[in-house]
Amino acid sequence: MARSFPRCKVFQSGFAILLACSAAVGAWANGSAAVRRLEPPQAWLFFGDEFAARSAPSLKAPESSLRVKRGMNILMTQAADDLEGHPWLGWECDGGTFWIPGAYLTRVAKANQKPGNLPIGEEVVNYDEALPLKYAPDDLEELPLEFRYSASIPYPLRTEAREHAIAFLRAAQDEGVSLKVVSAFRTMETQRRLYLEKVKETGLGESLVAKPGHSEHQLGTTIDVAGPDKASLLAPEFGDTREGQWVKQNCRRFGFVISYTAKNRPLTHYSSEPWHLRYVGVDKAKDWKP
Ligand SMILES: [Zn+2]
Repeated sequence: MARSFPRCKVFQSGFAILLACSAAVGAWANGSAAVRRLEPPQAWLFFGDEFAARSAPSLKAPESSLRVKRGMNILMTQAADDLEGHPWLGWECDGGTFWIPGAYLTRVAKANQKPGNLPIGEEVVNYDEALPLKYAPDDLEELPLEFRYSASIPYPLRTEAREHAIAFLRAAQDEGVSLKVVSAFRTMETQRRLYLEKVKETGLGESLVAKPGHSEHQLGTTIDVAGPDKASLLAPEFGDTREGQWVKQNCRRFGFVISYTAKNRPLTHYSSEPWHLRYVGVDKAKDWKP
């Protein structure tokens, strides 16, 4: 029988609506998919447009009439992988269990759940934890024309990060090293669209695009830089260029860190990106460990 939201408990918690259900249901198993119980239950944020929850952790399972919408927080009680190995999360309601692919869900870090601009260097953006779905700093300013890779793109950054980026880029210039910014602030909606398009294209598996809320570019403190050599643009080879070497040796002086390195890959799940610089502040940059 189709089920609907009104039969479940809905309440406010922190930033968004939390959906939960009081019905106690025994463990549920789906063929070879092993279902794990989440103890304690975890709030997961749905960032897709809309999704008809399934009665089993599989896209092949019939759609229920229970449709989740963007911004809903759901108190998940169960986890399972589908037959392709993609994670799903489920919750019990009214005697049944409803499932959503993990590809459309994320967890907002506790440290990020506060109003206004997050303190620089203390934002939590990593593989497991995200920014809130509505996060957007309000002190963004455009980058001067001379440091833009493309003149028509404003490359906004937060005031403090922007000042330090300019000082950093000028210092490079003074030493004859030419660096331009190729990417700066990205909105949540841009990241969400990029990610959802990628999932549409490649399925529920691991995506090369970060989930919305998981990109450091959403902080307004992060830049991608490039030298004049087009072949090394956003490529691992950038690290070997004169510009890449200069960046590596000097970025910390200006409060920037290279977030993704070969060394921290097991932790970050990203390949090395010697062009991707996050501003965390001069003091924090000295002994920053992502
Ligand atoms: Zn980047």
